[in-house]
Amino acid sequence: MSDDINEEHRKKMVKLKEEQRAKVKEKKKAERGLLMVHTGDGKGKSTAAYGTLLRALGWGHDVAVLQYVKGNWKTGEKEFFKRFPELVRLEVMGEGFTWETQDRERDIEAARKAWEVSKEMLNCGDYDLVVLDELNIVLRNDYLDVEEVKEGLLARHPRTTVIVTGRNAKQEIIDVADLVTSMEMVRHPFENGIKAARGIDF
Ligand code: ATP
Ligand code: MG
Repeated sequence: MSDDINEEHRKKMVKLKEEQRAKVKEKKKAERGLLMVHTGDGKGKSTAAYGTLLRALGWGHDVAVLQYVKGNWKTGEKEFFKRFPELVRLEVMGEGFTWETQDRERDIEAARKAWEVSKEMLNCGDYDLVVLDELNIVLRNDYLDVEEVKEGLLARHPRTTVIVTGRNAKQEIIDVADLVTSMEMVRHPFENGIKAARGIDF
């Protein structure tokens, strides 16, 4: 009896393997780096970007990170990257959350400067992966022109994959992205009065 079940299972798996192999064969390798967007209300947009960065580093890829918003905040990822400047190029351009700077003109100025550096990162051909963390936020605030940013992202060096994070991704960017993932908030400890924690949230 159990022999029958095992044999049936084995046959099923052989078939599954064949189907899987055929599916993979149909797909082609990406000819160029991808445009990836992590958005949505749930936690994990930046975390997923840094997780991808970790993978890229594992393969010896060249990577760069530009943080648009978290200027003065001490974060685990920043402390880590600072320890390995030869592994990760890190630029922190934002002045902090908008409710901290309270100065729209200054925010716009910071966003423009950050976008200039981003373009250089995207165009130079030195990187396999560029993370533009919270770029969606400055776009949502209309600190940068979305058409200009869209064109800049699309004009990146063919070698370069770019990940754009932040809530409320603009439709114009979503429309041209290769990958769009929206984190869904099912529950967050913050709702139950639990503060953001070191090593988990920052
Ligand atoms: P993370 O950096 O943890 O991946 P994120 O990039 O998805 O978060 P952001 O919008 O950048 O989210 O939020 C920054 C901070 O707010 C992080 O400390 C994160 O843990 C926290 N956060 C994310 N989602 C929520 C939420 N739904 N409610 C409350 N706090 C949140
Ligand atoms: Mg984030």
